[in-house]
Amino acid sequence: MAYSYEAPVSQSLFDRASVVTPGGVNSPVRAFRAVGGTPRFMVSGSGPYLTDADGREYVDLVCSWGPMILGHSHPEVIAAVQDAVGRGTSFGTPGEGEVALAEEIVSRIEPVEQVRLVSSGTEATMSAIRLARGFTGRAKVVKFAGCYHGHVDALLAAAGSGVATFGLPDTPGVTGAQAGDTIVLPYNDLDAVRAAFAAQPGEIACVITEASPGNMGVVPPLDGFNAGLKEICAANGALYISDEVMTGFRTSRAGWYGIDGVRPDLMTFGKVMGGGFPAAAFGGRADVMAHLAPAGPVYQAGTLSGNPIATAAGLAQLRLLDDAAYAKVDAVSAELRGLVSEAFTKEGVAHTVSAASNMFSVFFTDEPVRDYEDAKKQEAFRFTAFFHSMLAQGVYLPPSAFESWFVSTAHDTQAVERIAAALPAAARAASEATA
Ligand code: PLP
Repeated sequence: MAYSYEAPVSQSLFDRASVVTPGGVNSPVRAFRAVGGTPRFMVSGSGPYLTDADGREYVDLVCSWGPMILGHSHPEVIAAVQDAVGRGTSFGTPGEGEVALAEEIVSRIEPVEQVRLVSSGTEATMSAIRLARGFTGRAKVVKFAGCYHGHVDALLAAAGSGVATFGLPDTPGVTGAQAGDTIVLPYNDLDAVRAAFAAQPGEIACVITEASPGNMGVVPPLDGFNAGLKEICAANGALYISDEVMTGFRTSRAGWYGIDGVRPDLMTFGKVMGGGFPAAAFGGRADVMAHLAPAGPVYQAGTLSGNPIATAAGLAQLRLLDDAAYAKVDAVSAELRGLVSEAFTKEGVAHTVSAASNMFSVFFTDEPVRDYEDAKKQEAFRFTAFFHSMLAQGVYLPPSAFESWFVSTAHDTQAVERIAAALPAAARAASEATA
């Protein structure tokens, strides 16, 4: 499609980047391959806004893929970072910041009795799975199609947005041995889970699931699905791992656990808990965590784990996330969902606005979306037209139809009005789009 606007400085940066970096980006979805056009190189962020290298301002509905729940450059988070930086950037020793962040997590999320800090969500899920295998002495892992748990070799099968975006059935570089112990099942299908356990008695170490998936678009668990997983795992001596890298500290004070109350054996966190820095974690039952080195035999480590700047940023952000903050994010999300749906309805565009607490996304179908197969049936080509119209009007959406949109406490009336003003033309563009 033709783009009615230019981004010359971003384009020249992208040209430079493409020489020295594969595809010009350090994480694939940033390259705009699913929607085409020039990826915007951002130079600054303030509250709900991002400014690109061409000097154009956007209302940000990506929020760094979730972490920036207080908006960009929140003064108290920035102050905490500046204070920490003044004392040094990494010591490779234990420090009080890590203890305080761990205490904050444990105090918010009751099933987390102990927690280990790492630097990315990928590391968190990779380590949780290793621990589950070490604890149970079993090899196999159940995951669900459309759930993404980072680029862990064993979990890069039917892994949602990145794969959906690029149409890769699998990734070269993951060997049969690495993926061979992974059982991929349809999401929201407890019978499939029961059948897998029945077919492989005593072999499954764990079931890992996104607490509420946001990587095939937003597809919440059906009532009783997470509880059913927990029950099946418990009955079969397997661990139930809830991946809250995306939902953790975002969907409520206690993440998705705070909403459905299903008690996992292990949980993983990232994004919001790092305040925009690389901090992530996994934690859960103390008897399971006791198997982790140096307390136990399962090895796990990291030079920058518990980094003082990242922990200071994360702690400052979490301490600001009180009930009022979540009420604000939930309200902005509800308002936007209403505006988006209204705009599509006016233009006669078949759509479903799917929400899990304040996370949401649009599927271009009016059929129910319960799993990855349903999600893939949407008319994703309409998203491309919608996305580019919004971008041209100064609204930055995730550049894929299979990603969650994120809002923050900083999305005020003015930001919502800007989005509202852009929606009618973008909905029209979606209605006029052809495959
Ligand atoms: N788990 C979930 C549910 C995620 O959404 C992501 C990233 O989007 C990850 C794990 C991986 O986290 P990271 O990108 O920090 O490695």
